[in-house]
Order: sequence, then C-alpha cells, then structure tokens
Amino acid sequence: MERPTSYFGRHVFNEKVMRERLPKNVFEQLTSAINGGPHKLNIKIADVVAAAMKEWATSLGATHYAHWFHPRTELTAEKHMAFLSLDDKGAPLEAFTGSELIQSEPDASSLPSGGMRSTFEARGYTAWDPTSPAFVMLTEKGGTLCIPSIFLSWDGTPLDMKMPLLKAIAAIEARAMRLLRLFGNRGVHWVKVTVGAEQEFFLVEDSLARKRHDLVLCGRTLLGCPPPKGQQLEDHYFGAIHPRVLTYMEDVEAELHKLGIAIKTRHDEVAPCQFEFAPQFTEANLATDQNQLMMTVMKRIAPHHGFKLLLHEKPFAGINGSGKHTNISLMDSDGYNLLEPTNNQRKNVQFLAFLGALILGISKYSSLLRASVASPGNMHRLGGFEAPPAIMSVYLGSTLTNVLERLEEGFPEEIPTSEIIDLGLTKLPTLKKENSDRNRTAPLAFTGNKFEFRATGASQSIAGPLTMLLAVWAWGIEEVSNRIESRLGNSDITDATLDVLRDIAKESANVRFEGNCYDKTWHDEAVRRGLPIATTTPDALSYYLIPENRALLSSLSIMTDREIVAYYETRLEQYVKTLDVEMAVMEDMIRHAVLPSISKQVALEGKAFERATSILDSNFESWKGKIKSLCDIKEQLYYRLEQLRNLRNKISNYSLEESSSLITNEGISLMNEIRSLSDAAELWIDDMIQPYPSYRDLLVIQ
Ligand code: ADP
Ligand code: MG
Repeated sequence: MERPTSYFGRHVFNEKVMRERLPKNVFEQLTSAINGGPHKLNIKIADVVAAAMKEWATSLGATHYAHWFHPRTELTAEKHMAFLSLDDKGAPLEAFTGSELIQSEPDASSLPSGGMRSTFEARGYTAWDPTSPAFVMLTEKGGTLCIPSIFLSWDGTPLDMKMPLLKAIAAIEARAMRLLRLFGNRGVHWVKVTVGAEQEFFLVEDSLARKRHDLVLCGRTLLGCPPPKGQQLEDHYFGAIHPRVLTYMEDVEAELHKLGIAIKTRHDEVAPCQFEFAPQFTEANLATDQNQLMMTVMKRIAPHHGFKLLLHEKPFAGINGSGKHTNISLMDSDGYNLLEPTNNQRKNVQFLAFLGALILGISKYSSLLRASVASPGNMHRLGGFEAPPAIMSVYLGSTLTNVLERLEEGFPEEIPTSEIIDLGLTKLPTLKKENSDRNRTAPLAFTGNKFEFRATGASQSIAGPLTMLLAVWAWGIEEVSNRIESRLGNSDITDATLDVLRDIAKESANVRFEGNCYDKTWHDEAVRRGLPIATTTPDALSYYLIPENRALLSSLSIMTDREIVAYYETRLEQYVKTLDVEMAVMEDMIRHAVLPSISKQVALEGKAFERATSILDSNFESWKGKIKSLCDIKEQLYYRLEQLRNLRNKISNYSLEESSSLITNEGISLMNEIRSLSDAAELWIDDMIQPYPSYRDLLVIQ
C-alpha cells in the first residue's frame, strides 16, 4: 500500500512542481503575483508557465485542458480543449500557449446571468485565476488539465461565483490588516481567510435509485411514506461505517489526496445512509474550489461502488437533511489564528475585537446571511425539525456571553464565574479555549477558535454564503476600527476596545441567542427582537434587494448594484426552474406509475372481495371501505393532477416573480397534497405492485 504522504498533491501544479519545472525568475514572478506582490503576470511569463504546465500534465496522462469555473449555478463548468494540434504541414503536435492559459472563450450563452448578458452578446470569457492551483483530473482513457478561472462578460462584468468571493476576501483581508495595525502588529504581512467545509451526504443503492425518476432527475424523493425504522433509534450517528461505504470513502480519499485535499474526518451521520467528510481547512478561495472538487469526485466514484450519491439538502421527507457546516476564521502571516483566545492580555482584547466585529456585522446584516443560503433544496431543510432554523442567530457559549454581559454592565474588574479565571493582570479574564457546551441548534456558532456557519446547504457552492459572511465581517471590522480609532486620543488601545465592545454587546443582543433554536418560543422571541424571518426561498432571496444590503455589497466593491439584482434574478430563476421540474416529474410519476398501481391493487382486491363475499356470509365492511378509499384517492389524484397541470401552464406565461409566487403560494401545497395522497395509497399497495422502490428499501445499505 502506498502511503498518502507519497501521493498527496500528485495531480496538482503546486509550488513544489512549479519550483522544479519553472525557470527561477519565472517561478519568483509567478509566486509573487499569486501572493499579491507587485508583479503582474505578462504574456511572456504565461507562455513559459503554459509550456511547463502542458509538459507536467501530459506526463500524467492528460490529453486536454479546460478553464474550470463556477458559473452562477452551484456546479462548476468546463469546456475541454485538446492539446493536440496540427502544424502547417499537417503533422500532429501538442500545443498550449500563454494566451490559451490566460484566457478562454467558452460559448457560455446558456449559463445563467440574470439578464446581464443577452445571447447576441454572448461573449463571456474565462480568465486564469493563478491563486488556485491548476490540477489534472484523470479519467480512464486520459485526463484534463483544469485551470481554475473566473468568468466574465465581454465588458468585464463578473458572471460567476468566484469574482464576488475574491473581492470579499480582498475586502476583509485589507480591513483585518488595518485592525491588526491598530493593535500594533507591525510584523504581520498579510491576513488570510481560512475555511473548512464539512460535507454531509447520502449514499443509496444505485440500482434502486435508478428506478426512481425523482432521484434521477431531482436528486430527492418527491413521493414515499416513512420507513418502519427511521432515525428514531439514533443508532446511525458515529456508528461503525458499513464496509462497502468505507471502501468507497477510501477510494474518494485517495483521489482527493492526489488533488491536494486532506480529508481529516469521515463518519456516519444522524440519518440512515447519511455520512460526512471533513477536509483540513485551507485558504478560502482554495477551500471553495476544493469543496467543488470533492463533490465532483464523490459523485463520480459512487457508481463504481454501486451507490448513488445524494447531495440534496433533503432527499427524504421526515429524515434529517444534509448541510455543509462552513467553518471560518482569519490567520495572519505568522500563522496565528485571530479567533484563538490565549493567555496573552493584549491578544485577547484583539481577539474580542475581531469577534465583536463579526457579531456587530451579523446584528445589522443577518438578512444577507439568510439570503445566501436560500436555495430550492435548502428550503426543505432550514426551519424543518432539524438544525439549524431559518432565523439567523449567533451562539457564543457561556464564557464569551459572560464577558459581553459583564462588559455591558460596566467594567469586568472581577468576574465571578467558574469558567473564567481572572489572571489578576488587568481587567480581562483568560478565556478558556474549549467550549464544551456546544449548542448544535444555532445557525452560527463560535466553536472554540472559529465560527461555524451551519445553514449552508449540502449541494450549495460555499462561494455564495462565504461571500456574504465575509462582506458582513469586513464591514464589522471597519466599523470597529473606526470606533476604536476615534477613542484612541483619550485612552489606550485596550480601554478603547473594551469601550467599543461594550456598545457592541448592546447592539448585538438581538442576534445573540444561547437557547434552543428548535424551541417554538424562540420564534416568538425573534419576532419581538425584530429579526428577519423568511421561511420560503423567494422571501429569503428578496433580502438581496434590501437597500442597506445592496449598499453594503457595492460599498465594499463586492458586487455593483446592477450585479446584485442580476444575482437575485439568477437565484430566483433557479428556484422557479427547479420547482417546475419537480412538479413535472411528480406529475409524470403519478400519471404513469402511481395511478396504474392503484388500479392494479383495486382490481386485485376487488376480485378477492367478490370471491370472498360469494362464499362467505359477511359484508366485510372494513375491507370494502379500504377498497373504496383507494378509489377515492385515485379520484382525488386525478383532480389534483389537473390543477397541477393548469398551474404549470400559467407559469409558462408568467414573469419570473409571478411564477415564483404562484409556485410558493399554490404549487408547493398542491405538491404536498398530491404527495400525501400518493403516500396514503402506497401503504396499501402490494409489494409486487409498488411502482417504485420504497423508503424502506432505499434507506438500507445491502
Ligand atoms: P465538528 O463536526 O466537531 O464541527 P469537524 O472536525 O468535523 O468538527 O470539522 C471541523 C472543520 O473545521 C474541519 O474542516 C476543520 O479543518 C475546520 N477548521 C478547524 N479550524 C479552522 C480554522 N481555524 N479556520 C477554518 N476552519 C477550521
Ligand atoms: Mg463534523
């Protein structure tokens, strides 16, 4: 067995490969450009890099290259180009130039842009993003050199998920440097955002999943009654991993290790057939690419093990859905985690300033966070009977809450709680690093030395939620820096910061909640506090249009006002299209499979009933009633299908917003009614006649 350390990063054009394969001056200019240094990349450098990349990639077996980018869907896109070219004499050669590395023009007119680009001006182009390393994706018969890229329209307007993210990263990094300078950190050269996304997923038998059109076409079940045994025994979480699943995980890990992604944890999750992978955190841009790659690799390898991978936020009704807990912190050039509490007094005040900046930002812009996790799939998860709810709140744990409360009351001369040990140095306690009483119900939680955003959906790109979280935090850091600076004339940095934090403690009280977010009383409390509450995806998406949110994103140069509106529209369009497909698939399944199965069952029962009544002296009322109720279900299904058909016809003539409200206000409840009728019939249908594999069979790994 080869050790992971021997093949880790083998398929990545990383610093080591660059050092080996590039002339020293080119290597230095490229790495300087990557690290934000003064060097700009020019075509001469690009030519040399392209040649080295091509040699390296072809030596691994790659035959093609592709600009790999994140359009405004949750997926990545790539258009493969062959290295193979013919020279003017018709002789074959392998070619890849600097300009091909730097820029490419995919005919991307059918990717969503929210009206930013009409088809006649479809010249979107992709541009190399050297801050995320190129990598090779090998397939059975070759492979592709993938070049992480941004995607822009002809006039330079971003059309992807990456540009706004890169801008948000730049916005927060610059502001974090400013705050660090205020605290006298002269030796710090840079600050980076660190991110680790925990990926939850389901694995089901591929052979069974293929028989269900809903799983094949929508990635979730639209019909199906709960299994006799669900997650009520709680015996799956952290259970022994099924051997077939473990082998799958090992294969995925090996592949990801070659792509430079270190998987640190793997375990069973709460629901049957549900699992989790967590990578080691890394810089935010790279972490975003790595999560996309992880999803791609997981999906590709699953069928080799007889599985279908489900990344949907809610594949099964009544059973926990999947999220992507997004862990985030800031690290400085000394490798120091800015959210790490320590024994050092000054560093702790600095830590509180960064933490305070985030909660201040959230207290003002929590609606933006809510919008960032609004997707068709996540609507079934957020606000269901599972963590987290749709109301954005922050859990800090008792230690930090105590600190803020004491600050609010006055100065923490002495803090009489057991968790906090006053060093007796000055006014602040030593903070305990570990927060043992971790509240699992809060959408945002401080977990010892990082924040965890738990509302991200499992199938979402983390780029969107990260962009908004970083924007909110960047604003908070700037605000905190301004406030501290304005007090510096009269007091030292510690006193000035504690004074600022006292205000923040008050201002952020609205979003801080330590209780159980499942509790019904929290909803009422949140209403009293005036927190934004959106239970549907369109409502949550409309938060992008709030003037303050638009002003924030444009003032930080993350998105222009026009882009925000376009972004909102692409998200809403995605919602409408997804639900329209779901309605169409549901209609098809009912029409072609469920209705006929009811007829078969009625015929079967009818025959048996006739026979029985002819030989036995009984009316068999209950039995007869059951046959009748199956017939009633069938009748009602016909009626509802007609309604569904009418609704879908209307949508085709409606505007985006009209369609979205029709779907939300009528379509979803109609789908729910159809589902409950179909599920009621399923309970009484012979196993041999069942049109689709049931939850009972799907939620077991053979
Ligand atoms: P849990 O499930 O208990 O929250 P896991 O170990 O499953 O924890 O996942 C924690 C995730 O947080 C990992 O991906 C880890 O790399 C990431 N993480 C840890 N420290 C940081 C940090 N400083 N910045 C960003 N992510 C971090
Ligand atoms: Mg975990």
